[in-house]
Amino acid sequence: MATVLDTISFNEKKIQEIVKKTKEHALLHGIVMRTEELPASSEKVQYAPFALFPSLVPRKALVKVKDIQPHFNKMMHMVAYDMEFLQRCLSNVVKVDDFNKRLWDILQVVTEEGIAQPISLGLFRNDFMMDMKKGASVDPASPASIPDSIQMKQIEFNMIASSFAGLVSPLYDVHRYSLTLAGKQFDDLQVPSNNPAKELAKGLVEGWKAYGNKKACVVFLVSDPERNTLDQRRLDTEMFLCDRTVPVKYVTLKDMTERGTKRISDKTLVIDGCEVAVVYFRTGYTPEDYRSDKDWDTRLMIERSKAIKCPSVQYQLAGTKKVQQELCRPGAVERFIKDADVALSIRETFAYQYSLDMGEDGDDAIAKAIADPQNYVLKPNREGGGNNIYGDDIKPFLTKIKNSMERAGYILMERIQPWQQKNYLIKFGLEVSLRNIVSEIGIYGVYLGTADTEIYNSLAGHLVRTKTVGTDEGGLVIGLSCLDTPFLID
Ligand code: ADP
Ligand code: MG
Repeated sequence: MATVLDTISFNEKKIQEIVKKTKEHALLHGIVMRTEELPASSEKVQYAPFALFPSLVPRKALVKVKDIQPHFNKMMHMVAYDMEFLQRCLSNVVKVDDFNKRLWDILQVVTEEGIAQPISLGLFRNDFMMDMKKGASVDPASPASIPDSIQMKQIEFNMIASSFAGLVSPLYDVHRYSLTLAGKQFDDLQVPSNNPAKELAKGLVEGWKAYGNKKACVVFLVSDPERNTLDQRRLDTEMFLCDRTVPVKYVTLKDMTERGTKRISDKTLVIDGCEVAVVYFRTGYTPEDYRSDKDWDTRLMIERSKAIKCPSVQYQLAGTKKVQQELCRPGAVERFIKDADVALSIRETFAYQYSLDMGEDGDDAIAKAIADPQNYVLKPNREGGGNNIYGDDIKPFLTKIKNSMERAGYILMERIQPWQQKNYLIKFGLEVSLRNIVSEIGIYGVYLGTADTEIYNSLAGHLVRTKTVGTDEGGLVIGLSCLDTPFLID
């Protein structure tokens, strides 16, 4: 099976030595998170789970998804500002899904009273897996060779709280170190430098500038406790390096409820006496983030204010699984992207996705999934991991809901068969051994604009998350996957 180590082999003693030194290297580079025991404290932290070596990624495949990222950014922005399209996508979801209904209602309120802030800011992450077509083969004589047919297939497009830019930014450097310890010959361009934290921070600074008041602050709206707080902190550290005059505050929804206000006269959002230029949401994407109606009132207050939202409520709704499924329909991408070649490049990354709305097409999709559940993933319109239904669980679940409107809250997706490799995973409390793994590649992007004007649009680096074969979900903070970087091969 493929591995970056190719023909290099080690004894146990050598591997333990590489692990020990690389762990310390990771700690020195700040690849750290808070512990499960003390999730609210930075007094004692541990290294975040990471792959000991980078995982193989075909250079061409990575270049392709990086090249189209600015077009993806623009398309998702246009989707969010196309009320007719959004309404068509989500009309059945909001009938059965209270969480998305509440977001939808907020969008109706702000649209009716006139949007206070025409600009939206997006710090996106577009996730892909390296799909192996059925029957694809690897040359057994060269474990590092690229299988004869690998295609990047999109898993999802994250429009809220896209994480791990902070933790992954120093990892390419750690991987250059571990490879060197292992005696691997490589060119630095094969483990490319990467700083998504800096690029996303630049996006936040651009948003702040577009707001146009140097005294106004950028609010990181966060959960408490939050194990992944250091990932967030690297973004504001990078903001500091970019422009140290930008005031930054960390605020929870509860703080905003208790101490935030929207001035009636000019819709300015204010917290602790400071005008807010940008609200950067690192919370607010799951129902649990809103502990009461008061938190929902606070979300509404933020959306009605003239602060720039990252993301605005319409961005958040455009990021739902349902919208992504609807974009797979013929003509949908082309509604937004007029250049046929670009539209095709985007479309080529799509796996098959099916609506489960009531009706014949939905019935057919359900029958397909029940007959062959290993080839599908069932997704509700939720973010943050742990919500999808896989394999053997699909049949009983669909059988239960197939005659109820509830099914419109889900979409069905073809299951990607990702390229399997071998790597060592370093996780707190887990024995280190060579494991069969698969990887998910995230491409970061930044977009800033109004309905018809683009202010800023950039490709912002990459992330790889790697998990053992047989793990369905990919949650990193909960320990299912590990931070990783690409080792590019031709
Ligand atoms: P979430 O919003 O919870 O992150 P995702 O759509 O990203 O939802 O799915 C979570 C994880 O499930 C992904 O990180 C990936 O590992 C796996 N997954 C999702 N869709 C597919 C698919 N079509 N084929 C294979 N694995 C998938
Ligand atoms: Mg995901």
